[in-house]
Amino acid sequence: MKVLKFGGTSVANAAHIKQVKQIVQNLNGQNNLVVVSALGGITDLLLNTINFASNQNEAYKQSLLEIEKRHITTIKELIPVIAQSAILSKVKSELNTLEALAEGAFLIGEHTPKLTDKVLGFGELLSSYIISEFFISEGIEAHFYDSRELIKTDSSFGMAVIDFDLTYNNIKTFQKNLKKGITVLPGFIASSINGDNTTLGRGGSDYTAAVLAGGTKAEVLEIWTDVSGMYTANPKIVKQAKAIPHISYQEAMELSHFGAKVLYPPTIHPVLSKQIPIQIKNTFEPEKEGTIISSEKSTNEKAVRGLSNIDHISLLSLEGPGMIGIPGISKRFFEVLSQASISVVLITQASSEHSICVGIADKDASLAQSLVNTAFEYEISRQKINPVIVENELAIIALVGDQMKSHQGLSGKMFSTLGKNNVNIRAIAQGASERNISAVIRMDDVKKALNTLHEAFFEENIRQLNLFVTGVGNVGSRFINQIKTQKKYLKKELKINPRIIGISNSRKMYFDEEGINLENWQELLDNGEKADGQLFYKNVIALNLRNSIFVDNTANEEVAMSYNNYLKHSIAVVCCNKIACSSDITNYQELKKLSREFQTPFLFETNVGAGLPIIDTLKHLIASGDRIHKIRAVLSGSLNFVFNNFDDKTSFVEVVKRAQEEGYTEPDPKIDLSGVDVMRKILILARESGYDLDISDIRNESFLPADSLKTQNNEDFYKTLEKEEESFQELYTKALVRESKLKYVAEFENGNAKVGLEHIPKGHDFYHLEGSDNIVLFYTDRYPKQPLIIKGAGAGADVTASGIFADIIRIGNF
Ligand code: ADP
Ligand code: ASP
Ligand code: MG
Repeated sequence: MKVLKFGGTSVANAAHIKQVKQIVQNLNGQNNLVVVSALGGITDLLLNTINFASNQNEAYKQSLLEIEKRHITTIKELIPVIAQSAILSKVKSELNTLEALAEGAFLIGEHTPKLTDKVLGFGELLSSYIISEFFISEGIEAHFYDSRELIKTDSSFGMAVIDFDLTYNNIKTFQKNLKKGITVLPGFIASSINGDNTTLGRGGSDYTAAVLAGGTKAEVLEIWTDVSGMYTANPKIVKQAKAIPHISYQEAMELSHFGAKVLYPPTIHPVLSKQIPIQIKNTFEPEKEGTIISSEKSTNEKAVRGLSNIDHISLLSLEGPGMIGIPGISKRFFEVLSQASISVVLITQASSEHSICVGIADKDASLAQSLVNTAFEYEISRQKINPVIVENELAIIALVGDQMKSHQGLSGKMFSTLGKNNVNIRAIAQGASERNISAVIRMDDVKKALNTLHEAFFEENIRQLNLFVTGVGNVGSRFINQIKTQKKYLKKELKINPRIIGISNSRKMYFDEEGINLENWQELLDNGEKADGQLFYKNVIALNLRNSIFVDNTANEEVAMSYNNYLKHSIAVVCCNKIACSSDITNYQELKKLSREFQTPFLFETNVGAGLPIIDTLKHLIASGDRIHKIRAVLSGSLNFVFNNFDDKTSFVEVVKRAQEEGYTEPDPKIDLSGVDVMRKILILARESGYDLDISDIRNESFLPADSLKTQNNEDFYKTLEKEEESFQELYTKALVRESKLKYVAEFENGNAKVGLEHIPKGHDFYHLEGSDNIVLFYTDRYPKQPLIIKGAGAGADVTASGIFADIIRIGNF
């Protein structure tokens, strides 16, 4: 014999019940039991009815109407017209009784737990009756049987405790007299020894089915629901979660106890003791394999089998000097909670016994707080114990697996994964069985925490990177295109899945939590909301996605000054904007410190030499113990371009204008021409070499006339260049006479840095620098005479974008 249970969604309406019929029809031959829940949502409506009524709120009538409508519609859609009237009249008479009970509660303005259980029971009573009649009308040999006659409990209304001796005896007799075909029974409801209606706790239909399976020694207990099995995590929160084909009773019990709602926790016990396997299947995809829960050992399975979460938890912490070494404090603490029937979900106690910390449901927190404070009133008044501290709106997340005890380092991996994503852990508990490790975190962090843990433990190391890109001009738009074209490759070869979640330019911003469609991002952005840096930041924080990266492709000071906020939330920062790293030393140091403190990358490879790996190389030199003596470099692609193209046949101003048009200069070309840009770059290299320099420490022998330096806008700047053409021609002729080229050189030596125009003779490393090429020579302990040389294209949107891209990949491998 099999026992099948269909949950609320599976029987929510006529269409779904027809689906259930298909499944039941395929059971061949034997006598089987079918346990059903109330039509989905009805138990909540019944609860509303009784709560409204007892609070003398007329809204209860609305709930009653809704309940009536749902059932009547379902009957009309399921049962042929000729058979309808008998069924409708029976259901209406039940609904009248329900209405009378609600009216009673309304009149006296109160309800007892006993009355609530009576009211809640109507959901399953009606659904099981309607479904059995539907089966009969479809020619299935079906019968209705009332579970209240079989399952006997005590009188703890709301969560009654089953008397197994009595119940199993009843089931034995029931089985002997079982009618051929299918017997449909209501889940969730039972009766007390006094004959009152009781219920088995929310979600309790699973339990009814398990008790029937245990009592009849069924061959299998099938739980039919709206998901295809027990998943590695709640599939509604973790999209990547997968059904677990096979799992042990103990693992299933831990997962359900820690929140995997797909199975009501007490369900396991009656079937475990009889070694009856449980199969979890999807009513709407019956062909899917689902999950089998049994004691069979499976090989080759991961240590961590699943993740689960319980929301709405409060932590209660009792602390104080008076607790040390005094016996009985814990006993009193737990007694107070247990007398008030407050169940404790998690316990941690420091080995110093200086504090006890327990997790309970949020709804019990304020009662628990006042009871505990009263119980320890004397100790509190003498300052031996502090008043209990309560923290609300927390959640428990747990890692579950039978084999976890034989694997080291799982908790380390769990906590470092959470840490990297700025998930603050409030308390930790590990079961004595070592079958679970649980942590208490903020409820707001649950989605991020479960997804990042799922990625770390189940997803073959594919890391999702969530990018927030500000600045989508020359560099930014190329960067987005590179992501678009490389996405497949990155996923397959590098196991990185970058998604762009937010984009902004100076006018508009646009977000899509599921990843912006990169085929038409411009259009989406154009139709986005008004750009606002503060709001952008707030959205990034509110989305709270794992592995978030803020990408700054602007040259904007305000944006640069926002990095610290991102880093403090463990959001990595990648920027080609040089302002932050060349700002005053305290700001630079603060950003580096935040990056270390929050274990969050802060990368700016493109600040020097665009896509050339200059900073990365420097970092590796330093990390491996080398020391920098001297750096000589040509770091301005723009100035190279200008001096490579300037001669006595062109005017200086024309060359500069062309450089700007071709994207080789900053939006404000004076920043390049005055040498400020090069100063910033050598400053960053000096800082990365370990020297605390400021921009004012760098000598700049500018070749620009004083008038040009003073201008406030590009137009005026160009005018002065035009006026000074003669002096630029003079620079050119002097170099020509000496058979040398003009190069704008940056130098750092013994803690001092300078930038300026130099005559570079033939044969020098710098002489043949084409186009916008950059070159850097590092003289170090290991490279004292022959420097380490890095040379290549050092400006341009494409190479800069690919440098940003490389930083993103570095984070992916972090
Ligand atoms: P039913 O009404 O069929 O009893 P429930 O709503 O009680 O269904 O349980 C099924 C739901 O459990 C799923 O829709 C899913 O949202 C939730 N759930 C939570 N954790 C898990 C998990 N680890 N695996 C599968 N489902 C889970
Ligand atoms: N109908 C009950 C509830 O909603 C029992 C169940 O569905 O398992 O809690
Ligand atoms: Mg359920």
